[in-house]
Amino acid sequence: MTALKVDNLSYTYPTGTKALCNITLDIQEQSTVALLGSNGAGKSTLMDLLLGWKPSANILLFDKPLKEYGRKELGRFIALVPQSEHYNFSFTLLEYTLFGRAPYLAEMGSPSDEDVHLAYEALETVGLASYAHRSVTTLSGGESQLVLIARAIAQQSKVLLLDEPTSSLDPANRRKVIDILQALHAQGKTIIFTTHDAPFAYELATHVAMLKKGSLLCFGTKERVVTSEMLTTLYETDMTVCSVGGRTLIY
Ligand code: ADP
Repeated sequence: MTALKVDNLSYTYPTGTKALCNITLDIQEQSTVALLGSNGAGKSTLMDLLLGWKPSANILLFDKPLKEYGRKELGRFIALVPQSEHYNFSFTLLEYTLFGRAPYLAEMGSPSDEDVHLAYEALETVGLASYAHRSVTTLSGGESQLVLIARAIAQQSKVLLLDEPTSSLDPANRRKVIDILQALHAQGKTIIFTTHDAPFAYELATHVAMLKKGSLLCFGTKERVVTSEMLTTLYETDMTVCSVGGRTLIY
């Protein structure tokens, strides 16, 4: 089934900047899509549109126009993992992860024992359950990224959008995030993430979309579209994709 269908989508900011031009994407359920593009290519604008933060009549989510979803209903279908979060309040990790359950709560309702259990389980999945009662303000950058992922896991949405999930991580935490996202993919999630890291994209994604100056350069399985020629065109700098001992290297 198609999870997200983007049909001839264009977006122009009120300032007159044309950020996206005639984008068409068919994202199948249970695929993992990497969105590649230089700064200013339109990745964030596309993510905002997919989250319903900017209005569009050209996006279908599981065959239903995105604009017809209610706010809470949408939260049960799509979760966002932002690049980073500024914590204004000293919530514990468990309290913060519980925000992921908001789409399931009644107006002014409190989380149930089941919600608390799911939030705790999400912290276990990212390896932070032992910190459940620590304040989010005490976390390192890597731990903070993992809590954002835990909140999205607790949200139990079908689709996960991640904005540069490994951009500020050291190699060990980067590996951890890759392993977690691969496990979520194996559980049937549809995952869409932006990144500047082509090797990371290649390792994690099943499909790759390349955006250049607001237009879609290509979209397809990673084996088909991630080539030296495509990456060199995308980034306007020499890039090489080669196969060594059965592994694909990009440099
Ligand atoms: P990316 O995420 O790939 O770096 P963006 O989607 O942020 O790209 O930006 C795409 C284009 O839209 C850029 O030319 C950027 O300057 C412009 N843009 C982004 N946000 C705004 C805004 N709020 N108002 C006007 N133009 C914007």
